[in-house]
Amino acid sequence: MTTAKRALKKYFGYDHFRPLQEEVIKSVLQGEDALVIMPTGGGKSICYQIPALIMEGVTVVVSPLIALMKDQVEGLHANGVDAAFLNSSQSAKQQADVMERITEGSIKLLYVSPEKLLSHEFYYLLLQLKVNLFAIDEAHCISVWGHDFRPEYAKMAYLKKQFPHVPVIALTATADNLTQKDIVNQLGLVNPKKFNSSFDRPNLSLNVAPGKDKFKTILGFLRQRPHQAGIIYCLSRKATEGLSEKLKNAGVNASYYHAGLSAEERARRQEDFINDEVPIICATIAFGMGIDKSNVRWVIHYNLPRNIESYYQEIGRAGRDGLKADTLLFYSFSDVIVHRKFIEESAQKEVSHAKLERIQQFCDAQICRRKILLNYFGEHLEENCNNCDVCKNPPRVFDGTIIAQKAFSAIVRLKEKVPAGILIDVIRGSSRQEILSKGYQKIKTYGVGKDIAHQDWQQYMLQLLNLGFISVAYDEGNALKLTAQGREVLFGERLVNLVHLASMKSDPEVKPILKTGKQEAREGLFEALRKLRLQISREENIPP
Ligand code: ADP
Ligand code: MG
Repeated sequence: MTTAKRALKKYFGYDHFRPLQEEVIKSVLQGEDALVIMPTGGGKSICYQIPALIMEGVTVVVSPLIALMKDQVEGLHANGVDAAFLNSSQSAKQQADVMERITEGSIKLLYVSPEKLLSHEFYYLLLQLKVNLFAIDEAHCISVWGHDFRPEYAKMAYLKKQFPHVPVIALTATADNLTQKDIVNQLGLVNPKKFNSSFDRPNLSLNVAPGKDKFKTILGFLRQRPHQAGIIYCLSRKATEGLSEKLKNAGVNASYYHAGLSAEERARRQEDFINDEVPIICATIAFGMGIDKSNVRWVIHYNLPRNIESYYQEIGRAGRDGLKADTLLFYSFSDVIVHRKFIEESAQKEVSHAKLERIQQFCDAQICRRKILLNYFGEHLEENCNNCDVCKNPPRVFDGTIIAQKAFSAIVRLKEKVPAGILIDVIRGSSRQEILSKGYQKIKTYGVGKDIAHQDWQQYMLQLLNLGFISVAYDEGNALKLTAQGREVLFGERLVNLVHLASMKSDPEVKPILKTGKQEAREGLFEALRKLRLQISREENIPP
């Protein structure tokens, strides 16, 4: 057994590495810089945690998620790893205590916020330590192309300058080509090894059905799949119990699982499921974490998941053996209402609401579902999957390139700072006070989309989002950003097919794309970005 594998077992209790983990660890142990792109939940942390445990010295982990640092460090402590964190949520005394512990040399992993990393006192601390690795988590934050840009991240080039012999590993779940280049350039990585594990699960067939006659539909679904193992995810504990009861009454061998059961009971039901004793389980999202059953043939969502990340995680439990597996999501508005109530009682309301809206849009869309899913995670699928309910029953489409170009050109001219509502008002030439007071009537694309009704523009923007040409920055007031594919459309390098709207009488007229318009748009775009970059580098100097 390799040292890495022994550490995996000893500290984390796992027997096998996930795809790419071992390769990444090997490369880091050889002292190489690395860029790792892996889906959320793919297991990025272990890629730097295991090298940290094997190597002498301390690994410094930069993460923007202050709220998560404490959890991670506590998790490591529980596994017997000495770790600590430093960020602005701690008092001066707490920070001083941590600093002292660090200089004593027992800590293997030190998590810091980017602000902390850039402080002078931390720099002097770094000089005294034997740092064996810098891990930059959520590395897409470094790029203005990503939708989570953090100015502090843009200053981290100093690490490689001041500590040229310490390897740097950058990790993220979302990075298109441009963002990847940005990460490498801005961190100054030297011949980095690139590891990219795709989100794509081509063996999963994605299907959405209206949330009515659910029980009848499920019975029909099961009849076509005798003896197959599957999970039915429900929103409430009560629903898991009720549904499994109904299934049993219909002669189906099913059980239920939720966090309200005793630990022994949960373990027993999980065992029964894994051993195919009871092949069908009705469960809340408490079920599945860490369950490694390769032959789950289907996953049904009895209720709408709260966001696309959860949906992806949960359907991901099907077909781990790579063989075909089916997924079915029941979509009903009553579930949306339930989620909204939950969200109102939680922190981070705005983002959660936006994410809920996004999964509704996924369900409503008439666009290849796999395409939407991959776009959501920043990957682009060129061809339709021909394996989802939309592809099997495709809608009528027309060439919507001009429509898209009008919108994209306006997005660029508005510096990727406005949400869809304002954008549509600008292209439709609205004389609303909010538009005029900001001077938006002076931008070149003001009024170019007058011929299309406001609600139709909304539909088109949604399609363009689902097609992956634009993205929404939830934490910047839902500002619209253009993706790499969107830029190709703007520059006339790619065509866009849009789905016919019910309100459309005939296909809109398609005019040739003007070369001059293209160049102008390109220059405008790069000018805007140049300015943004300049502004960032002018802010405070990089220490020291
Ligand atoms: P990411 O940062 O990529 O979103 P994490 O590093 O948080 O993902 O890991 C997600 C989950 O997967 C964690 O619960 C982790 O313990 C688990 N995990 C990671 N690697 C493995 C592995 N090799 N075997 C089993 N579970 C793993
Ligand atoms: Mg992570």
